[in-house]
Amino acid sequence: MPVEAVPLREALGRVLAEDVVSHDDVPGFDNSAMDGFALRASDTAAATEAAPATLTVIGESRAGTPYAARLEGGQAVRISTGAMVPAGSDAVLRVEDADEAAGTVSTTRPVTPGLEIRRAAEDIAAGEVVLPAGTRIGPAELGVAASTGAAGLSCARPPRVAIVVTGDELVEPGAPLRPGEIRNTNGYAVPAQVAGAGGNILSVETVGDDYGETVDTLRRALAADVVVTTGGVSVGAHDHVKPALAELGVEEVFWGVALRPGHPTWFGTTGPVLVFGLPGNPVSAMVTFHLFVRPALARMLGNQAADRRATATIDADYPKRPGRAHVVRCTLAVGPDGWHVRPTKEQGSHVLTSMLNADALAYLEVERGDVSAGETVEVEIL
Ligand code: AMP
Ligand code: MG
Repeated sequence: MPVEAVPLREALGRVLAEDVVSHDDVPGFDNSAMDGFALRASDTAAATEAAPATLTVIGESRAGTPYAARLEGGQAVRISTGAMVPAGSDAVLRVEDADEAAGTVSTTRPVTPGLEIRRAAEDIAAGEVVLPAGTRIGPAELGVAASTGAAGLSCARPPRVAIVVTGDELVEPGAPLRPGEIRNTNGYAVPAQVAGAGGNILSVETVGDDYGETVDTLRRALAADVVVTTGGVSVGAHDHVKPALAELGVEEVFWGVALRPGHPTWFGTTGPVLVFGLPGNPVSAMVTFHLFVRPALARMLGNQAADRRATATIDADYPKRPGRAHVVRCTLAVGPDGWHVRPTKEQGSHVLTSMLNADALAYLEVERGDVSAGETVEVEIL
């Protein structure tokens, strides 16, 4: 994707196109970790209960307003957390450990050199790459970018994604259902997945099972970088997505995946535009979005997505015939022997609530047969 400058406050969720290099040390100067008194540790070396070390308080170093002069032997400077440590001092006596009197401060215990001082560059050294290109900006990345002084970031332009949901039977939430009609759930879950994957939702359209209308709707959608359709991509008499895409010049790359849920998944391209024909069943649409569309969007954004695969012990029997890979929605728990997973509930591709509380997906290979509780499975932690 092309690169664009993004003001810092708008960069949450965006992907860096260039490394963020800090021009400054962070912190930029030695500063106090505590409210207290900056002093020379050697002045307190002999301090005891009976003979406290007493120093003259000569001024103050506040956060943002350093003490201007140099501190000499026998002197102390009142200091706030984060304030610059005055030249000539090498430690901070915490206010809780100090006895204050008019113009003086005393301690009954020696202060060790370097105590309560946060060193310059302890967080970031000038010239360091703090955020490499490909990083997705979360709250911590935003804060770190601000700490380097960056007012904006070079980010990949999010791919524009058009979503086309198909089906005569679909009714929006809020409108009454007539016999045989169902709620349009893909029109909500899939755009949310697009947003979560860093895509820019260009449009969400619903089209009935009519060939001409499907062609018209898909023609509009092809103005996007990525088109995601749901439903109408199987072999039924009212499935118009494939022939409509063919008429629009979208070339099929694949149709049909040895996968459950998600068998009828279709993928094609026209020029640079990627078209994903996801199955209509709500779980199939969400799972195939996760497996196919999300990685494609990440790749377009240059996002260095972390590998979240692991192995886990499955804690329930799972009947399976060889021939398709299964994606099982699971809850995740940690035991003394590592990760454990358990199917959330009944795994039908129409049971959308099986996606609730799914902390992990278990991937059962094509050739695998019945899985027994206690066996090891490959999982992706969500
Ligand atoms: P299709 O692939 O169009 O035959 O759809 C497969 C199943 O998914 C059917 O039961 C549809 O009613 C259902 N379905 C399709 N689209 C949606 C949608 N947007 N929301 C909820 N269910 C859907
Ligand atoms: Mg349909």
